[in-house]
Amino acid sequence: MYRPILLIAVLVIATTFAHAQVKTVPEYIEQVKALTNRSHIQAANDYLDRNHESIMREWIAITEINAPSGQEQPRAKYIESLLRKYHLDDIHYDSTGNLIAVRKGTGGGPVIVFDAHLDTVFQPGLQIKATIRDGKIYAPGIGDDTRNIEALLATIRALNEAKIKTKGDLVFVFTVQEETTMNGAKAFVGENKGKIDQYIALDGGYEGFTYAGIGINWYRHHFIGPGGHTRSQTPPYSASLPLARAIDRIYQLKVPTRPPSNLNIGMLGGSEVVNAKASDAWFTVDLRSTSNEVIADLAKQIKMILDEEAARVGMEVKTDVISTSPAATIPGHRESYLVRISEAVHRVMGFDPPIGNAGSNNSSAALLAGISSISTGAGPCDGAHSLAENCEIEPLYKGIKKILLLEVALAGGE
Ligand SMILES: [Zn+2]
Repeated sequence: MYRPILLIAVLVIATTFAHAQVKTVPEYIEQVKALTNRSHIQAANDYLDRNHESIMREWIAITEINAPSGQEQPRAKYIESLLRKYHLDDIHYDSTGNLIAVRKGTGGGPVIVFDAHLDTVFQPGLQIKATIRDGKIYAPGIGDDTRNIEALLATIRALNEAKIKTKGDLVFVFTVQEETTMNGAKAFVGENKGKIDQYIALDGGYEGFTYAGIGINWYRHHFIGPGGHTRSQTPPYSASLPLARAIDRIYQLKVPTRPPSNLNIGMLGGSEVVNAKASDAWFTVDLRSTSNEVIADLAKQIKMILDEEAARVGMEVKTDVISTSPAATIPGHRESYLVRISEAVHRVMGFDPPIGNAGSNNSSAALLAGISSISTGAGPCDGAHSLAENCEIEPLYKGIKKILLLEVALAGGE
């Protein structure tokens, strides 16, 4: 769908935007369309159309090698064995365990990184067996992130088969530990800072993409009291009382929807036995927002509530910060070259892409290092992080063509 209002908005921004070298989305659409009319892109797409069956089989084979975070090697080795057949310019592991494959350009072009993560959230030893029904594949990890691993492998084969040369280098990074700490991407970005022009994290997504990352802070708050037997004198109370009061008040805080923000209290605990007052009652808070100010403000309000409820019963508060990851934004990034050309690629592929700023994946690691980055994916899936995870089969083939077009558009087709 073409939107006149959007077009006007884009034109207004384009004429006032400081970076004159960035073209408008309609201009990029023309540029990308011209690319798709070239015979070699059509040859690559024909190759993909002829190979639906083998793509699907390989997708399933990779999915069935479980790869819990920190134990990605068996899956990485299998992918490496495939990459070895593709006549790439460099294949190696870095010190963190990321598998890196480079398809060099002819020269004078940018360095474009495409990332898909190797790891899954499933426990070691889980036997994964995919089943197909109603046009979907069911298997834990089939979508997150194996669909995007397969998309990268299929595009490399299609680029080779169609003899497509790009000006810039395409660097394919199969990262470790995305689901836990993003340490794989953080290490890769840290080691290669200054050498990367654009970073595309393939994780989730199909029709749209994100251009900024949401900030995430995790806390464990404790109320510490004297404890005691059920029949001990009250007050003092069980530390579960201020906990209950605090949780109730925290859920009454105003959490803005704009900017997108979330608050969740997912875990709690108290005494180990029924007949004791809790001396340590605790709960977790998962605080998220695309605005670091909103996170800071909510954290401050929560601290006030905790202090008040502790004082009311003469107890203490102790807070463990489990992890913090700031919102990942680059000023003006929404109107950057990468975001506009990515929108053009999606539109040329027939999508009306939702473009969001609340991503939560390896793209944030790149953005926090100041590298222009988006996150998208190759197909629609459901039930990520659950044993019922599943993906539609047919759309993946279109999604792979989208990724290929993104690769050639960004690296510069010859
Ligand atoms: Zn993922």
